[in-house]
Amino acid sequence: MRHWIKGALAAINADYQRSADTHLIKLSLPNFEDINVYLKDESTHPTGSLKHRLARSLFLYALCNGKIDAHTTVVEASSGSTAVSEAYFAKLIGVPFIAVMPRSTSAQKIAQIERFGGRCHFVDCATQMHDTAVKVAQECNGYFMDQFMHAERATDWRGNNNIAESIFKQMANEPHPIPHAVVMSAGTGGTSATLGRYIRYMGFDTNLWVVDPENSAFYPSYMQQDSTLTTGVSSRIEGIGRPQVEASFMPNVIDEMLVVPDLASVAAMVWLEQIAGRKAGPSTGTNLWGVMHVAQHMQQQGIKGSIVTLLCDGGDRYLQTYHNPQWVMEHLGDIKPFEQHIAAKVGT
Ligand SMILES: *Cc1c(COP(=O)(O)O)cnc(C)c1O
Repeated sequence: MRHWIKGALAAINADYQRSADTHLIKLSLPNFEDINVYLKDESTHPTGSLKHRLARSLFLYALCNGKIDAHTTVVEASSGSTAVSEAYFAKLIGVPFIAVMPRSTSAQKIAQIERFGGRCHFVDCATQMHDTAVKVAQECNGYFMDQFMHAERATDWRGNNNIAESIFKQMANEPHPIPHAVVMSAGTGGTSATLGRYIRYMGFDTNLWVVDPENSAFYPSYMQQDSTLTTGVSSRIEGIGRPQVEASFMPNVIDEMLVVPDLASVAAMVWLEQIAGRKAGPSTGTNLWGVMHVAQHMQQQGIKGSIVTLLCDGGDRYLQTYHNPQWVMEHLGDIKPFEQHIAAKVGT
């Protein structure tokens, strides 16, 4: 077995060796000359999102903890990008993979998982995913990866080329190399945990802002310091916001939180395409709305500096939904007021 694990780790590390780091793109906000904005472009990973990093870390963590061997079926509860990225790594090391997901998951995502040899197990609604995944794993004597539990601990927070270290290295030659703020949304909370811990470990004067969509339990739980809060409703921004506070969400390393209206997220996502020609997913819009908020705050205080955020995934996955104006109008409402706000305050 030790021999097999050695081979699996070698396969993951060879894949890593073949991969390039993701770009840090410089963005200009027309009305904010003294503030530089940077986007860490996570859409260029082989599986198209920041979940590529998480999936790699989760597999390494499970392998080194003796949870996966040559015949272990890996199971995950995910309707989104995590299942796609985990299917990729399961295939890489040659173990079966089952994603437990709602029946309503888009055909495109299901096809991506199946392309990497994964299987999909459907449940009627999202709230059943977790318990069903536990059961499916038990039945096949497999391993439930449990992203929401393990995301924060699977990543090396002190460095080892995690996303935080990568960002700060890439900022080295910029006019303001230590950002005034890093803005990030939370799904598992793993990325914000890594950013916040690294900032503290390195002693940087950077503020970590976590932006949250409507319907999420993260913001109210942060404000009221109550991790048992639930909202009973699902987030409408794919990949971020949760109806309950997940174990990987680390409130104590967050400096500020902000709720972003769902329509503002979509408007900021559309704005990015207009200004930079980049089609991103809606959580990137949430991040950018947060950046605009922080930029305004800095300008009012006369602070010059930089702000970093993430381009979490590309827009190709959302052509029929968030990038389709008719779908947006029907499911979320009118983004015009938010587009006008951006045009007036930030410029296009
Ligand atoms: C998971 C995810 C996030 C949030 O990242 P976490 O590290 O899980 O908090 C943001 N955007 C997208 C598209 C995601 O899939």
